Amino acid sequence: MRTLADLVLPGSTVALRCDFNVPLDPQGEITDDLRIAGALPTIRALQQAGSRVVILAHLGRPKGEVSSLSLAPVARRLSELLGSTVAFSTNPSGDQRVIDSLELGEVALLENTRFDPRETSKDPSERAELAAIWAKWADAFVSDGFGVVHREQASVTELANMLPSAAGLLVARESEVFARLLEGAERPYTVILGGSKVGDKLGVIESLLPKVDSLLIGGGMAYTFLLAMGLEVGDSISQPDFVDTVKGFLTKAEELGVNLMLPVDFVVADRFAPDATTQIVERSDIPAHSMGLDIGPRTRELYSQVIAKSATVVWNGPMGVFEMPAFAGGTLAVAQAMAACPGFTVIGGGDSAAAVRILDVNEQAFDHISTGGGASLEFLEGKELPGLTVLKGK
Ligand code: ADP
Ligand code: MG
Repeated sequence: MRTLADLVLPGSTVALRCDFNVPLDPQGEITDDLRIAGALPTIRALQQAGSRVVILAHLGRPKGEVSSLSLAPVARRLSELLGSTVAFSTNPSGDQRVIDSLELGEVALLENTRFDPRETSKDPSERAELAAIWAKWADAFVSDGFGVVHREQASVTELANMLPSAAGLLVARESEVFARLLEGAERPYTVILGGSKVGDKLGVIESLLPKVDSLLIGGGMAYTFLLAMGLEVGDSISQPDFVDTVKGFLTKAEELGVNLMLPVDFVVADRFAPDATTQIVERSDIPAHSMGLDIGPRTRELYSQVIAKSATVVWNGPMGVFEMPAFAGGTLAVAQAMAACPGFTVIGGGDSAAAVRILDVNEQAFDHISTGGGASLEFLEGKELPGLTVLKGK
């Protein structure tokens, strides 16, 4: 993959794609700036190399202009984090005035690229039309929005093809970590999967089963596995359509000698609410009108023991409804076990990365916390990511 070292940076104007798709509260305040912070090393490297840095990014999924999805608050937060003013252009394709006014080493952010429908158009010629507008003022393109490299979008793929282009530091690091998890992870290798739906992670299970020593299952996806074992799950979230696929995974794991572990106990609740009445039950005793919302204490202990002995650990998907304190214990236990593990530990983005921050686990204790949810899953599925493919070769 081409890197910053492959570009001629001094005196250039660089179009830098970042992932600034941050969560906002109802007042429009940024609630987690992991992704903005993740872009700082590349921005600083470009500044130090003597480039003008013009950042392209999106927020949410607007159809046309949506004022609540403006990147203006991100420009303010980025200014604070960088310690210098970030100019903001209200035009997603960039206005010449803002770009001309930049000195070498200065930074501008353009308005939400998705305000222009050509950004996400299914028609490659429309995407190319938008990219050509950016390419007029830019000398080079740097791709550093890992969270969007699985997308074919004007500011991800088309622009990369029009200019000298390379991966930024974040994309380079994320790619290196995930490549190592796909090929060449040190053993014992443990993968922990959770989250709400098994259907979202079938591809990952399929791809990783032949590579791992242990696969630990938690979260909402565990209940489809219980169905596959012929157990009752009450009102727990499950996807009966995937029972056969999951049965296939159980057989495959046995054939391959993979230690596929399912929770042995659960925290069940009488309703989906923070103040629900809860109970700890064995997996064979989930009561009819209750729902499992977290893994139980024995499961936490068993999973922590496996994690402690692993040389590589990857985790994607919370073990329970961690947003409610009553059901956060399983997720916290896994996060703490990983934090204490001396092996190479990776959190695969999305809600698991958010959980670690919300539950106040020391982020420094992990080797890598991905900024890309969907992208990291697709990488682990072994899929080709178009935003990375365009950066390959010399
Ligand atoms: P990730 O983004 O890490 O891949 P997902 O998006 O698949 O994870 O799932 C995250 C969501 O799963 C969280 O909002 C969490 O509340 C929910 N979840 C976890 N366990 C359960 C459960 N037992 N029942 C319902 N929802 C659950
Ligand atoms: Mg998610």
